[in-house]
Amino acid sequence: MTHFPLIVRDIRTLQEWSHNLKMNGESLGFVPTMGALHEGHLSLISEAKKRCDRTAVSIFVNPAQFAPTEDFEAYPRTEKRDLQQLRDLGVDTVFAPNGAEMYAADHSTSIHPNGPALGLETDFRPDFFNGVALVVTKLLLAALPDIAVFGEKDYQQLLVIKKLVDDLNIPVRIIGAPTVREADGLALSSRNAYLSSEHRQIAPKLASVMMQVVSQIKQEHKPRECLSEGCEQLREAGFKIDYLELRDAETLRRPADDFSGPRRLLAATWLGNTRLIDNMSA
Ligand code: AMP
Repeated sequence: MTHFPLIVRDIRTLQEWSHNLKMNGESLGFVPTMGALHEGHLSLISEAKKRCDRTAVSIFVNPAQFAPTEDFEAYPRTEKRDLQQLRDLGVDTVFAPNGAEMYAADHSTSIHPNGPALGLETDFRPDFFNGVALVVTKLLLAALPDIAVFGEKDYQQLLVIKKLVDDLNIPVRIIGAPTVREADGLALSSRNAYLSSEHRQIAPKLASVMMQVVSQIKQEHKPRECLSEGCEQLREAGFKIDYLELRDAETLRRPADDFSGPRRLLAATWLGNTRLIDNMSA
């Protein structure tokens, strides 16, 4: 039997749908996205489906998280294809609001996360997590899910959202799901569509250099030296580097030399006009 997702464009209808299914004793898993869906998004949806009776996915390219110089206008929008994929997966509801539904002309509330939001992405995209925190809060309050699934691909974002939900007492459990990669190691991203064929050939080098840095660090080599060698290799391959950093995996603070807890290697780089981010356990 073909499954047709319900397509909802307004917040009130989504809230009512969610409320009604709760009244029926059903649980809801939610996956927020900006569309241009790929296997990474689909893996989050599978995770939500495994854990809950019903699944909702949002598609909204959030203007609040793009700086004026960034790619809001150019961001790929493929709603028809996305809906087809969501139908094939058996998603129950797709929330695809327009900009005015999410941000009324007199919208005047902002959220400013600190903690894990400090540094890394924020050094290069100062308002990014303000925009993410605002839209995620609004989406969670629109969908009222039991769980929401986010990708480790955006590791700093995942920690910011976990902290946000905790600090604001939003009654939802945030689940992190592993990064889905191409066979050559490149992390899937909607922005990979921007890569020229020449840059697409080079792009997997980001993950391979990061894996090499992790392996050297695990062999007790000095992290600082491994990181600067990694940067050199990336530059030689043609990347421009925003950051390549080793952090405490739970707080994202810089680990002291004697730190023995879990660590995360995080990177943001450019190939031409395409920004590629990646991270892995270290
Ligand atoms: P986006 O549409 O890029 O805002 O991403 C929506 C969700 O998909 C976020 O939770 C991302 O972290 C997640 N995501 C993006 N790329 C991947 C990937 N390659 N593997 C797993 N999750 C991903």
